[in-house]
Amino acid sequence: MALLVILDGVGDIRAKGKGTPLEEAKKPNLDGLVERGAVGLMSTLGMGLTPGSDTGHLAILGYDWKSEYPGRGPLEALGVGMELKEGDVAFRANFATVIKNQIVDRRAGRIETDEAKKIAKTVEKIKIDGVEILFRHSTEHRGAVVLRGKGLSAKITDTDPHKIGELHACEPLEKTKEAKKTAEVVNKWTKKVMEILSRHEINKKRKLPANALLLRGAGMYKKVEGFEKRFGMKGACVAGGALYKGVAKYIGMDVLEVKGASGDRNTDLEAKRKAVESALKKYDFVFLHIKGTDSFSHDGDFEGKKGFIEKIDSAIRFDFETDVIVVTGDHSTPWSLKGHSGHEVPVLFSGELVRKDDVKSFNEYSAMKGGIGHIKGKDIMNMIKNYMGKNEVVGS
Ligand code: ZN
Ligand code: ZN
Repeated sequence: MALLVILDGVGDIRAKGKGTPLEEAKKPNLDGLVERGAVGLMSTLGMGLTPGSDTGHLAILGYDWKSEYPGRGPLEALGVGMELKEGDVAFRANFATVIKNQIVDRRAGRIETDEAKKIAKTVEKIKIDGVEILFRHSTEHRGAVVLRGKGLSAKITDTDPHKIGELHACEPLEKTKEAKKTAEVVNKWTKKVMEILSRHEINKKRKLPANALLLRGAGMYKKVEGFEKRFGMKGACVAGGALYKGVAKYIGMDVLEVKGASGDRNTDLEAKRKAVESALKKYDFVFLHIKGTDSFSHDGDFEGKKGFIEKIDSAIRFDFETDVIVVTGDHSTPWSLKGHSGHEVPVLFSGELVRKDDVKSFNEYSAMKGGIGHIKGKDIMNMIKNYMGKNEVVGS
């Protein structure tokens, strides 16, 4: 079996007189893996390109991030447990407070999950001009929306302006009747949702009512070749965040439900370790995702990221019995930049068939001297197969 661990946004750069969080964290288990393996640097999409978490994960899992990327919406919708059909157009959605067409709060006063769930019930299924519009709430202000019907298009704008201000109307991005129709349906739906939500008892009591749903990241769902068919391995995913579960579901992996896996800083890492341990008994390939490293970096929190890496090291322990363990990130998120960057990410391979190098620590700078050298995201699955002894001769 193989285990692929993705520490989201783990890659970093030295800044403000400090080493990187990976350099400064005490992580005896990860460093031990390096002693029994080899390290290198990976550019997930290509040298200097800055990946999003969605394209980054697809590339590492062996999918073409250009032709097989469905957009963020379908991945989020799958991740919150919605079933999609070919031709569906899906979005990320969030509850917001809108007063006189002005967005006053993009998160509806950070509405709590329980309250949002109750409000969500009233707008779960609406039909407009023959198009079915489904909404599924996930956590706090978040959710996903799916448009199902004939002749739709994902070439339309967001209604979420991504900042406080005027609520945007949905506009077609191309001159087709499909894009025009879809934009019209979205606008009618947005209006109808606002009418229904404004009347809700809970909203009448809220200072910042959750009286609108903003949409972004439209994408059209299309089935892709399954992971098992492509790589000859049955795969499972252990993740908390909706996007990562969505990516796994999109490529046909089983998504394991892990209680306490929140997809953020407060996640139950012990529970995730246990889930991985039992998954390795049933699956050929297990993908473990941990989000917190990226979140601390977005906040510019060096100590938080370093401490979280230490927590991961002691909770996950990385002592699983597998043919190969890979640990890497989907992109760099330097804490000093508070955002993703195009810097390569350290990657480590540990296993019987891996040619060991002399590196003893897992970080960006030691990885420059490692035996793996410089690889791309799309190399990972081939390398895993090779280290599992599942290599196939190309040609004859
Ligand atoms: Zn990411
Ligand atoms: Zn990020």
